[in-house]
Amino acid sequence: MRLLLVEDHVPLADELVAALKEQGYAVDWLADGRDAVHQGATEPYDLIILDLGLPGKPGLEVLREWRGGGLATPVLILTARGSWAERIDGLKAGADDYLTKPFHPEELALRIQALLRRAHGLANQPQLEAAGLQLDESRQCVSRGGEQIELTSAEFRLLRYFMLHPGQILSKSQLADHLYDGESERDSNVLEVHVNRLRGKLGRAVIETRRGQGYRYAGVET
Ligand code: CA
Repeated sequence: MRLLLVEDHVPLADELVAALKEQGYAVDWLADGRDAVHQGATEPYDLIILDLGLPGKPGLEVLREWRGGGLATPVLILTARGSWAERIDGLKAGADDYLTKPFHPEELALRIQALLRRAHGLANQPQLEAAGLQLDESRQCVSRGGEQIELTSAEFRLLRYFMLHPGQILSKSQLADHLYDGESERDSNVLEVHVNRLRGKLGRAVIETRRGQGYRYAGVET
């Protein structure tokens, strides 16, 4: 999953980018509200974390412009401590959730996971579950019928994307768009290697190849 972080306080942004990458997200970072209006609306983000106090353009205005333009991406806003007015304005402007600074990185991680599940119609699950597999996002491993299977970081990122899109045909370019940040090199051969490794661990049928179209997560028989 690919996230946009808009935060002008550099030490906090550095800390969040590092934590989010560790959690297997591709992250792009911006510090200016004007840049965010454009990039948030044009790049295919799965979720946006938006600070409200920004140079260039206030976060609230950024959010209003996104929603006014029809952008449906889940947005989590970061608000100042004690500012209930900010939280209310943010929710009215179309934020999906908020966190008040300072916050614990684990709380951010859990809120992101919940927002992504909700955005993909899986809101009723305490953890990500699709077609016979359960994904433990904090340990980055997968279980099948109680058996736990270890994953590399690349396998985890790929499987999470598949499990959030069960049954859908995903092209290689769509996968690359959502698994790599704006600065990473994209190599569809690498994707193929990771798909094959996932099949080796979970069974051939777990990910189908659709000739000329891409891949489809089919899960495992239960
Ligand atoms: Ca700020």
